[in-house]
Amino acid sequence: MGESSITRRGLMLVLSSPSGAGKTTISREILKEDDNLILSVSATTRPKRPGERHGVDYHFVNDAEFEAMVEKGELLEHARVFERRYGTPRKPVEEALNAGRDVLFDIDWQGTQQLSGKMPKDLVRVFILPPSQEELERRLHTRAQDSTEVVKSRMAKAADEMSHWDAYDYIIVNQQLERSVEQVRAVLTAERLRRERLLGLEDFVHRLRTTG
Ligand code: 5GP
Repeated sequence: MGESSITRRGLMLVLSSPSGAGKTTISREILKEDDNLILSVSATTRPKRPGERHGVDYHFVNDAEFEAMVEKGELLEHARVFERRYGTPRKPVEEALNAGRDVLFDIDWQGTQQLSGKMPKDLVRVFILPPSQEELERRLHTRAQDSTEVVKSRMAKAADEMSHWDAYDYIIVNQQLERSVEQVRAVLTAERLRRERLLGLEDFVHRLRTTG
């Protein structure tokens, strides 16, 4: 045992937003500079987009494979989004938390709601809003990868997703990328220091008080 034997249980940092609010870019920036934070790679039945990699962006599976994961209890949460299925594999998350590592989730409000019911103490919920409706529209239109119909449907879904802002602990309006990244980092820093996550604190303080 070293001088300080305080350890910590990992936390679950959920980032949700309507598509087009800048969440993916923010997540990437946060992950790049934080060695203790890993990304939860979801399973999905939606087709792979150009540039996406299996096992990195998503585990791309078919309906039968997804259903098998659900039945075996391998998913921590799962939901239907844009007529496709999405879910969070349980094992990597549990292993990370037990090892004191933090996990970042890019999931929607339905998944967040399920996790809130299951693991409320580990969860830190952040919602990212676009600065304005015009900006959201602009961002959705410049995503050339999806068809016009998909863009239209995503606009409607964005409005729906945003109606769930009040189920989150922190709200960030993504006006400027660097500032939003800084704000997510600030949340992470503070949440890592929460008393409830620290293990061995009682012994540590006891030693401070008796060996001084
Ligand atoms: P996309 O298809 O654009 O990658 O993601 C569509 C939506 O599904 C996003 O809002 C994303 O946050 C959400 N999503 C991605 N993975 C999961 C997951 O494992 N569970 C849930 N509930 N939502 C997810």
